[in-house]
Amino acid sequence: MALTNEQYENIMREYAAIREKNSALLRARREEVRAASPEYRALDTDTGAAFLRALKSRLTGGNDDGADAARIVSRKKALLAVNGFPSDYLDEIFTCPDCRDTGYIGTRKCHCFRRREIAILYGQSHLSELARTENFRMLRDDLFTGEDRQRFLNAAGIARQFAQNFGEKYENLYFYGSVGTGKTFLSVCTANDILQRGFAVIYFSAADLFDRLAAVSFDYSKRAELAALTDDLCGCDLLVIDDLGTELGGTFVAAKLFSLLNERILRRRPTIISTNLTIEDVRTRYSDRVFSRIVSSFTICKLSGPDLRLAMKRVRRNESAPV
Ligand SMILES: [Zn+2]
Repeated sequence: MALTNEQYENIMREYAAIREKNSALLRARREEVRAASPEYRALDTDTGAAFLRALKSRLTGGNDDGADAARIVSRKKALLAVNGFPSDYLDEIFTCPDCRDTGYIGTRKCHCFRRREIAILYGQSHLSELARTENFRMLRDDLFTGEDRQRFLNAAGIARQFAQNFGEKYENLYFYGSVGTGKTFLSVCTANDILQRGFAVIYFSAADLFDRLAAVSFDYSKRAELAALTDDLCGCDLLVIDDLGTELGGTFVAAKLFSLLNERILRRRPTIISTNLTIEDVRTRYSDRVFSRIVSSFTICKLSGPDLRLAMKRVRRNESAPV
């Protein structure tokens, strides 16, 4: 899938706004330093003229070797430290130093551009919406008891670690358990945490994912869309497949799932799966190949217990009930 012109221009406007904000911040910092040090203010006024004199001299064969301008620059640096400012306080400010807030590194799209593009193309507003109620701050373990509670705490700990180490450690997660045991909750928390840290995250329910793939897979005129979708699914920083097993089955789904997981494993791109299916169910429903990829490359977390969604409803009802 590609961005429309309007979507592209919106992203470019966002970059322009970031650059403007950063240069306003730099201007404010400069004023702050000038106000703190009258010597700095005086030197700052002289800097432009000193550089101009050196340049003119070089062009006309004069005797200004630029030493004067260099002295001013180094004294200004020293004055920053004297007045308690960090040495890089007046360096240019970039939100993304990799592309200097242009969105491009040469002709290649920067990772920060790809993240914005993916957020638009795959409707991450849905994920942000979910994350308002499902995030690590909302985590509570008092809804489960005994072994169920231990499993939930264990899975939540693994999810937190996964989010914390993201970008440094390659890992995949497989949450499985019956309805309402917290699988989707943990997937959303983790995905949103990683999204907020600037990574490109694609979050799909299994039914939507395979519908979307099917819609462009059997029509030759849509081959470019299929290639772009496949590229995004295989290349995004994190892919979350929620509720695997609720999609319509068949050989198409089994083959697509395998190639997707296999490609991401080869590229060392993390994936999170949440599902009602046990590992053995995966073998029966999809294939031995899918089974073996999951067993060999995913951390498996089993969840169990009563339906958390019902329990949460009960809690909310009790909390809002008049005392
Ligand atoms: Zn960038």
